Order: sequence, then C-alpha cells, then structure tokens
Amino acid sequence: GSRQVSMSNFEKNKFINYQRIQDNLEVVKKRLQRPLTYSEKILYGHLDDPVNQDIERGVSYLKLRPDRVACQDATAQMAILQFMSAGMPEVAVPTTVHCDHLIEAFSGGPEDLKRANVTNKEVYNFLSSACAKYNIGFWRPGSGIIHQILLENYAFPGGLLIGTDSHTPNAGGLGMASIGVGGADAVDVMADLPWELKCPKVIGVKLTGKMSGWTAPKDVILKVAGILTVKGGTGAIVEYFGPGVESLSCTGMGTICNMGAEIGATTSIFPFNSRMSQYLRATNRSDIASYAEQFAPVIAADENAPYDEVIEINLSTLEPHVNGPFTPDLATPISKFKDAVKEQKWPEELKVGLIGSCTNSSYEDMSRAASICQQALDKGIKTKSLFTITPGSEQVRATLERDGQLETMRKAGGVVLANACGPCIGQWKRTDVQKGEKNSIITSYNRNFTGRNDANPATHAFVTSPDLVTAMVFAGNMNFNPLTDTLKDANGNEFKFEAPSGAGLPSKGYDAGSNTYVAPQPENVTSVDIDPKSQRLQVLAPFNRWDGKDAKGLKILIKSKGKCTTDHISAAGPWLKYRGHLQNISNNYMIGAVNSENGEANKLKNQLTGEYDTVPNVAISYRDQGIRWVSIGEQNFGEGSSREHAALEPRYLGGAAIITKSFARIHETNLKKQGLLPLTFADGAAYDKITPFDTVDIVGLTSFQPGKPLTLVVHPADGSAEWSTPLNHTFNQDQIAWFKAGSALNHMADMHAK
Ligand code: SF4
Repeated sequence: GSRQVSMSNFEKNKFINYQRIQDNLEVVKKRLQRPLTYSEKILYGHLDDPVNQDIERGVSYLKLRPDRVACQDATAQMAILQFMSAGMPEVAVPTTVHCDHLIEAFSGGPEDLKRANVTNKEVYNFLSSACAKYNIGFWRPGSGIIHQILLENYAFPGGLLIGTDSHTPNAGGLGMASIGVGGADAVDVMADLPWELKCPKVIGVKLTGKMSGWTAPKDVILKVAGILTVKGGTGAIVEYFGPGVESLSCTGMGTICNMGAEIGATTSIFPFNSRMSQYLRATNRSDIASYAEQFAPVIAADENAPYDEVIEINLSTLEPHVNGPFTPDLATPISKFKDAVKEQKWPEELKVGLIGSCTNSSYEDMSRAASICQQALDKGIKTKSLFTITPGSEQVRATLERDGQLETMRKAGGVVLANACGPCIGQWKRTDVQKGEKNSIITSYNRNFTGRNDANPATHAFVTSPDLVTAMVFAGNMNFNPLTDTLKDANGNEFKFEAPSGAGLPSKGYDAGSNTYVAPQPENVTSVDIDPKSQRLQVLAPFNRWDGKDAKGLKILIKSKGKCTTDHISAAGPWLKYRGHLQNISNNYMIGAVNSENGEANKLKNQLTGEYDTVPNVAISYRDQGIRWVSIGEQNFGEGSSREHAALEPRYLGGAAIITKSFARIHETNLKKQGLLPLTFADGAAYDKITPFDTVDIVGLTSFQPGKPLTLVVHPADGSAEWSTPLNHTFNQDQIAWFKAGSALNHMADMHAK
C-alpha cells in the first residue's frame, strides 16, 4: 500500500495521484515510442482516455482531467452562476475562489480594503455563500492575489491546474502545469466534464550559467519576451531546463512562468527540482516534497526529449532589462536604456515606481528591494518618485512586516497597498497626473498595455525587476542606471548602490498573518445570497430545450462585416461590472460589430417597426415577440478572448444560430455549450447573396448528425424565389446532446438526475 498525501493543508481528504500519472504514461509511451518532455508527461499523465486519445503536438485536441480549478473574483461570478444552473450539489474537483481584482488602490492597505468591502459587498456575499454551499474554498478580500495563494498553498509538482485568469501559469514555478482559461472551461471541470486543450507544442528554454548581481529572475522572461514577442508562444508550452535552473529560487521561477502569459504561451513550467522541495517544506508541505522526490523520475523530462524549438540563455551574462512602453516585448538591456529614452523621447522624469503584484512579490523580491531602501536610508536620502508596494499575499505581508522589510520601505518613502491586484488591473485612484498628460511609470508587474494601470493613454508604463524599480525611484529619473551611475547622499557626496541582496526564504519561517481563508461548509448553507434587485448579479435560469423541430421563420438580426472579435461581441471596459448579470451585460451584445447594411456599428433596422435602433434593443424586441433570429458574420468570427459572455448573450437574447464563413475555435465551442448552433457557409458566396432582411429556415435538425451538413433555406425579402445552401458544422455526438438539452449544463444536469 502506498501512502496517501493530501493535495493541500486545506483539503486533507483529497490526494495527489502520482500513480495515475505513471500508469497513464506507460500506456502513452508504448504508443508514441519516443522520449517525452516534462510538460508532456504532466499533460499526458492527466488524459481522460490514454488508450484512445490522439496525441500530436500542435494538432490533436487532448481531453484532460485537471487536479484543480481556481477562479478570481471578476471571472468567478459568471462561472459560479453557470455552475449553479447545472443543479449539482458540489464541485467535482477541488476549487478555490480568490477576492483580489475588485480592490481599488488609493490611500493604503487597510483603508482601501475597508472601502472595497463596502463597494463590492454584494459580490463578496454572493461568492462566499456560493463557495460555502458548493464546497469551494473561499479566500476573502485581503487574503492576497490568486497566483501567490496558489503557489503558497495549492500548487504541486506534476499537477494540472486550470484558472480563470491569464497569469495562472505562475504555478509553473512549482512544477505544476497551470493554464489560464475562460469561465466556461472552469465550469466544465467543476461539473465533471473532461477539459479540452489543443495539444501544445513545446518550446525549450535552456538556462546555463549562474545569476548574480543586479540580474533577477524577471530578466529571464523580459529577455525571452524580447526574443519570442507577444505572439511567439501561441499554442506552445515554454519549458525551462538546464544547469542554470538550480540558481533560481522557486518564487523566482514563479515570476518567469507568470509573465510567460505575455508571449501568448499556453503555459510555462520548470521541472521538479530541489528549490521546489525547499519551498514546499518552508510552506508546511514537507509531505508533498518527499512524495514528489519519491516519484522524481516520473515527474522529470526524459533524456533527449524533443522540443519544437530551443532558446539558450546564459544567466552569467544576462543583463537586467527594462521592457516597454506599451508592450511587454520591447526589451532593452539597462546598458542601452538611457539612449533609448533619449532617442524615443520617452518622458525622462519617473513619476511612480510600483513593486509587488502576483508577478514579483515574494519574500526574496521584497527583501532585495528593502536592501536597496536600506542603503538609501543609510545615505540619508528618500524616494524622489512615488513608490508603492503590493504584497502578493497576507502571508508574505505578515512575514515582511515581522522581519522589518516593509518598515524599511515605508521609512524610505514607500506606501504599502492592500494584498490585491490594485494598480496592476487599473484599480488605481491615481492623482499625481492629469489624464492625457505624458508621463513615465515603472513597475515590477507583467502587463503594460496602453492605459492598463491608470486608464491614461499617455502614461508610458515600463516593466522590470523590483530591484531596478526600487533603485530608480531614488533617482526619480528614467536615465538612471544603478549598475554604473551615482546618486548624491544627504551631504552631497556621490555614492553608488551595491547590488541588492535577500534570502530566498525567511529564516524564521513564514508568518501566516491573519486568517483570511473560509472553509466550505455545505451542510450549513441552504441558499446563495443574490438580491433580486441587484444590478451586478442575477440568477441564471436554465435555457429552453430544443423543441424537436427544424427552426423556421428566423429573422436575421445582423449581417456583420469584417473583423468580429469577442470584444466586438461583448465589450469590456465599463461592462465588466455586469459580468455576473446576464440581462445587464447583454445590453452590449454586438455593439462593436459593423452592420453590413449601412457600415455602422450598433445601428440596425428593426424589421418589425422599420426604425433604426441598437443591436441589443432590436434583439430584445424580436425575442419578446417570440421571434427567433440568426446572426451572420465573416471569417474567424469570435477571435480574441475565451469570454463566455459572447456566447451567453446571443442565447439569452433569443438567437438560434450564428452563421459565418469561419469561427475562432474557442468561441465556436462556447456557442455550442450554450445550446446555440455555430454553422459555416459551405459556399462562401452565400454570404454575399443573403440580405439582412431575408427570412431563413434551418433544416435538418431532426436528423442532426456529426459530419452531416444542415441546410439554410432563404426566403428573400424582395419576394424572389427561395433558395437554399448547405451549412457545415463541427458538432460531435456529445455536443449534439448539448444542443438537444438546451446547453451543456442542462445536459450535465440530466446525466446527474439519471
Ligand atoms: Fe492579474 Fe495583475 Fe492581479 Fe496578477 S496582480 S492577477 S496580473 S491583475
């Protein structure tokens, strides 16, 4: 009998299953007859059906069984509302929810947290009651940022995690394959459906040499981003290996994996190693460390494992980098940065330096930053720029408070913000510059697209290591290179900073701080807290089942032309606050799409009244008259994000089918999940022939089968003869069952009722 090791200290009765990985891999290896990379071993070790699964990198779709699910508070709302509509008593795999995105940074940690608890009360109450009822671990506001809490408590080598946030790959620092997904995917796994992922390619990054001086783990990913660019990782896992790995701390590896999201990679990962064991032991998980060590050969790359591409980075010669502005892949080594600032005319004054966030808030990061602040204090100087510190978790905050680093940073002029996303996600009440004013800020975060931090398109945001941010706030200037340049001390004498230093792990152990975790208690909770008058949350009613007939007499809501991304279909920005309220957010449906009739966005002729109106208003008017409709589009319809609202909204507004020249795959699957018919013109010319005021029938649904086209019958508005054209689809047998049940979740509920 092998001993059982709990997945986390919060889920004593859920166990890590390395044996399953080993067994699955035996099957897969017999079939593939080749060595496997580390990330392949994890993925194939979690296959739903290792015997029959097609496995070809970059080609097949893998059906996987993840070990756990994590959601942040902005994306968790619709995910949980959907899960509730499936009518299951509890989640099928261990799941946690983290309150981190909705806390606005203004005056400092405690006050900001107090305000957030008032502003977001109904969302927090809903999430906490739903978590309690459905057996989901709940991390309260103030507990910290999702990715740090996962690293500290839940990540483990060889595991497979999905999270409803793009920086989920952070847990790759602890050897876990951790992938950012949309809410619809999270709901599938919570409801016990296998999860589908296109079999990733594998890009190897070989690290040689040893890191020292001002160079930090962040510089590895800043360099990789410069090489691969923001698109270079698409469809691939970035897997690090080589002798340089041992010179990186576990949290440093987390930083590298975290920011791998910026190159579009499926995830990034480091192989299980001794630094991970040390971190597991320091975070009260020595049983997991020993268990992973026992299975070390299973959770390691095979010798000569094939990579699709290999990049080599020598840590001994790697320079600190500053990336930006406006894009994370514009990488400039610090030795050339001064010239770049001059040449590009980037604003030279540094207004604000911001350290921390989920990317760079470890004990090591903050200790190194504090070591720079201490040098400045010894020289009698203080920060020239504003300087904020965002601890990634309550545990790291409490430990840094106990050990004095936060006090040192405050003394030097820093402001400690709440343990939350804050300025990283634009939750920043910035007052030092006016909107539109050109200015520079520098952060240790990961993303620096236009307007992300402060909604000011004129802000030049740069990303770098916390070391460089901290040194630069004492100069107050983007031209300062701490490796070569001097500053003046309180007496006017020049001095140069020593390279920063700091321990990877706290010598006195971590201090957990205040208890911010709420364990689920399904037996004590009967109802979930949603105010029927709420503008932000709304219970989701299950969608109607298919009526068993062909769909006849459908109106064309909109024939759109040109690019139509998920942002055109369901806009973000001010609409984000309605993510938990399907009725309210549906008022953004297709408002960005271009109407082929008049070339305008959000201006359509209501065929019942003849008046022009917005897309959502026309859809509502048809729905309320009992008229179903289709929407027509062009190529790669629904590209962009995995936002499930783009599929929920047309279903809610009475759509029956979305007919296009082609679909982006995730959006196509999301439409199927909501009981809609994503169909494509077999004959592209039909798109041109059809007019927005024709009436259509979809015929063939009573014998709906995989691979068999349906037929679109068109009754032209001008009274000319009807014509028909074939419509292709990619439904498989399971997905046809979703359609018939009205949605994938209705189908799940049916299965559970049996
Ligand atoms: Fe996302 Fe920033 Fe929050 Fe990290 S800190 S989870 S990158 S918003």
